Amino acid sequence: MNLNSSPPDETTLTERISVLLPLPLTGAYDYAVPPGMTLSPGDFVTVPLGPRERTGVVWGAGDGDIAAGRLKPVVDLLPAPPLSDEHRRFIDRVAAYTVSPPGAVLRMAMSVPEALQPPRAVTYFSGAPLPQGLKLTDARKRVLAAVADGSRFQAADLARKAGVSSAVIKGLVVAGALRREDVTPTGSRDPGFAYTSAELSPDQASAAGVLRDHVGAGYSTTLLEGVTGSGKTEVYFDAIAAALDAGRQCLVLLPEIALSAQWLNRFEDRFGVAPACWHSDVRRPEKRQLWRQVAEGGPAVVVGARSALFLPFQDLGLIVVDEEHDGSFKQEDGVSYHARDMAVLRGHLAGCPVVLASATPSLETQANVEAGRYGHVMLPDRHAGAAMPKIALVDLRRDPPPPQHWLSPVVQAGIARALDAGDQVMLFLNRRGYAPLTLCRTCGHRYGCPQCSAWLVDHRLAGRIVCHHCGHAEPRPRRCQVCDDEDALVACGPGVERLAEEVQTLFPDAELALMTSDTVRGADAAAALVGRVEAQEVDILIGTQMMAKGHHFPQLTLVVVVDADLGFAGADPRAAERTWQMLSQVGGRAGRGERPGHVLLQTYLAEQPVLKALAEGNVDAFLDGELEARSIQGLPPFGRLASLIVSGRDQARVQAACRNLLRTAPRLTDVSILGPAPAVMAILRGHHRQRFLVKAAREVNVQAVITDWLGAAKSPSGVTIKVDIDPLSFY
Ligand code: ADP
Ligand code: ZN
Repeated sequence: MNLNSSPPDETTLTERISVLLPLPLTGAYDYAVPPGMTLSPGDFVTVPLGPRERTGVVWGAGDGDIAAGRLKPVVDLLPAPPLSDEHRRFIDRVAAYTVSPPGAVLRMAMSVPEALQPPRAVTYFSGAPLPQGLKLTDARKRVLAAVADGSRFQAADLARKAGVSSAVIKGLVVAGALRREDVTPTGSRDPGFAYTSAELSPDQASAAGVLRDHVGAGYSTTLLEGVTGSGKTEVYFDAIAAALDAGRQCLVLLPEIALSAQWLNRFEDRFGVAPACWHSDVRRPEKRQLWRQVAEGGPAVVVGARSALFLPFQDLGLIVVDEEHDGSFKQEDGVSYHARDMAVLRGHLAGCPVVLASATPSLETQANVEAGRYGHVMLPDRHAGAAMPKIALVDLRRDPPPPQHWLSPVVQAGIARALDAGDQVMLFLNRRGYAPLTLCRTCGHRYGCPQCSAWLVDHRLAGRIVCHHCGHAEPRPRRCQVCDDEDALVACGPGVERLAEEVQTLFPDAELALMTSDTVRGADAAAALVGRVEAQEVDILIGTQMMAKGHHFPQLTLVVVVDADLGFAGADPRAAERTWQMLSQVGGRAGRGERPGHVLLQTYLAEQPVLKALAEGNVDAFLDGELEARSIQGLPPFGRLASLIVSGRDQARVQAACRNLLRTAPRLTDVSILGPAPAVMAILRGHHRQRFLVKAAREVNVQAVITDWLGAAKSPSGVTIKVDIDPLSFY
């Protein structure tokens, strides 16, 4: 054997290549490599597609179906780091798992096309020696004060900071009082992390030790379980520090990241610098820079929403999924995927550890722990000896609220006691708006959405009635649209706005705040409200699930769940599990400081096993029962579920498509097909919807079954079939 001859370079492709485009097409297309161009898998290229040019990724060697002479040539190779092997395999695997076109998944990885172009210079402004005779207005003084300490800003940021218009900045530049500097950002800037660990308790230290040992030791998935306030975040911070020490990249997925200002501040306290954020509120120039930095392999901690999974990390050393049970990790639009499960897949392909953190782990994850597929570390107690809150049921059949009111006398007394003691109270009602339904007392007409099978929700603060499914809105009616009677319209049921009205009447001296996506818009507003609660400027916080997550308010000692039965409506097989998770999470906001917390659950279903288990502190028994029931019924995690939603504007065509699907439905042992049946939302945005449910044994490859099925059935035009593997919502 001749050791000196170098092996043929397999990664350089000549003549023909296949290119995957970020479009929902069936596969990759072949193109010719023009003379003089050298291409490798993962390269970003521009290619002609029909009359246009598109940017895609070299996926591999061409397959040769089309004669080489007829292939169109690649137009351009873009100056961006190639998509790694690992990332390309990830995209293929996600596509296969979710039964989606790979191009639709690639599109999520190419969400910032401008990042593929060479970085543009960014202009910064800083202070300069004051020119003689400069006219100093108040506005100009504020600008100069902002740069007095030598810091530099982009024009828009400086204008915002000084509270001036951009004309003022321009004027100062022209006058020579600001220095202008063009900087070309380089991706792999070292952010300079400097970690100082919290002093960990023995339990925390041993959990952190296990996670640290996993870093650098290849793939593993570990459940980090611990009640709210037990220090899970501190523990996984420690593992992040280990990955950073090893020079690796880290990804932390959080639900509703935009709202987690407290989390970001804590990170900055521990690591000395803020992490990079990735979610829908992040501005494009920042996204572009982050995409680039990650692609160039720079050291980074990215904290993001589920879409951060598709960033082009080069060297992942750790993935953390916090609140792994949270339903918002499931994407329903476009490619239906669960970010927790895909995070495990990505960790697997990247050969790095994955940490799933939760106080109420999903039954899927629990079953994976039990089967030995996932490791398990546990934090049994709250940090610093804080006790877990006491949970009690308020049986509304025995202690009902007065008519047209929503708080039982028992709850009213509890709130009064807490306020007297100078504590804070949180009221949780997962219903936005004033009332979920408007009804005419004279003729019985109910206001429904013209495009959906849903009632219009009364939003009094906004003066509108609104569909929560499609966004349809109209002004609040004064008279009935059917019988024209005036003053006959009544609001039915409570929303948070109505609850706030009741609370203000009961406790006129208390300072109230509403925390819902209607009243608190965007990350800054949320952070400001959290700040007011921390500063104890708020006595009673009323809100939807937006406020249930993550916040740490030491003076909050009473949490009231106004309607603990809300999660049981509908046909969701996970209703009990979700109710447990939601109520534990909301309840976990109580008593995080020195004084013990109380949780009151208002219910008409006091015998519900979950509610009883929560009140009796016997959740393990409930979970055992729930797992057993799922096992008997062959539901996840013991069996597989997939749903097909068949939809279209024309009802007859949708029905024809369903008959077609029914005729060609697979007949296999271990697979049962339920449906078609009208979906819960039988009409959504004017589309008629029917659903099939595919139930299969765990060993069955449901993706293959569905692909064969859909391949055999021809659908009429105007009908869409959407596949959802492991569906979480059943509307
Ligand atoms: P979890 O993520 O389990 O809800 P956190 O990590 O948020 O718990 O911890 C709850 C609170 O206790 C936080 O304010 C955190 O700073 C504090 N805490 C937890 N562990 C420690 C520790 N070892 N030293 C100091 N503070 C801690
Ligand atoms: Zn609607």
